[in-house]
Amino acid sequence: AEDLLEVNHLKKYFPIKSGLLNRTTGYVKAVDDISIQIRVGETFGLVGESGSGKSTVGRSIVRLIEKTEGEVKFKGINVYDLGPEELRKLRPQMQLIFQDPYSSLNPRVRVGDAIGEALLDHGLATRGEIRDHVEEVLRSCGLSSYHIDRFPHEFSGGQRQRIGIARALILNPDLIIADEPVSALDVSIQAQIINLFRNLQETRGLAYLFISHDLSVVEHLCNRIGVMYLGSMVETSSRDELFQNPLHPYTKALLSAVPIPIPKLKRERIVLKGDIPSPANPPLGCKFHTRCPFAIGRCKEEVPEFRDAGGNHFVACHLA
Ligand code: SF4
Ligand code: MG
Repeated sequence: AEDLLEVNHLKKYFPIKSGLLNRTTGYVKAVDDISIQIRVGETFGLVGESGSGKSTVGRSIVRLIEKTEGEVKFKGINVYDLGPEELRKLRPQMQLIFQDPYSSLNPRVRVGDAIGEALLDHGLATRGEIRDHVEEVLRSCGLSSYHIDRFPHEFSGGQRQRIGIARALILNPDLIIADEPVSALDVSIQAQIINLFRNLQETRGLAYLFISHDLSVVEHLCNRIGVMYLGSMVETSSRDELFQNPLHPYTKALLSAVPIPIPKLKRERIVLKGDIPSPANPPLGCKFHTRCPFAIGRCKEEVPEFRDAGGNHFVACHLA
């Protein structure tokens, strides 16, 4: 199948400014050479600690922020070649869902209107048609027409995320970029929302870029997984391969913290030393070496190449 989304060598550098003249004295390399492919109906899980650049990847893809370098192709179209009007037309097809949909819902706007207004904005329905569309999408998100005239504060966290999903879904997108969509929810509610994502994928053929700091969240949803650390991809592979045969020490550490029993895999708990370093001043060599339990001398000086370890399994580590 053809790629729906193709991200090639994406970079996003934020200038660090200082002094009286506000001169640029350096760059935070928030996203430093990230490549991702997602096919129609598939899910790519993007995983890493907070501050690893995952959200910046998501936002650069839809041009909520502008990339520094690299290429983003959606359905073969170079997203960064589009003018404002063409971009506006493309937007419904690539929707972003956030961790806290409440913050993007106006407390004084009824939920039905909040969901329906996007249709009007994009000229995808007339006022008369909106109610039917909103009802349909609410139902497919596990809510009902009863909720149309309610206000955001009347909903629980899980229901609010259903509203967030409904608002994205009503534009009939092909790709949803979900940025930590369940991180603010209780574990039992998380499972319900993940199931909703999965059902919607099956019924609508949606593709997801699913961003999470938690591997156990992406496990049941993703075909492929990419692990980011300080702006760089350290490992990508199929979901099964990643869980059964992780190659990068950082992935191993993340996995060892996941309380999922995988019989074939004996995993010793790998506890990382220290915190994630500042992205403004990342370690030289392998950016992970300050926390890696397996680091050797070479790791401090030489940046490990991101290379194919076989079977479409990529890893950046001198020892892998
Ligand atoms: Fe650890 Fe070295 Fe591999 Fe980096 S290159 S992950 S420091 S062993
Ligand atoms: Mg984030």
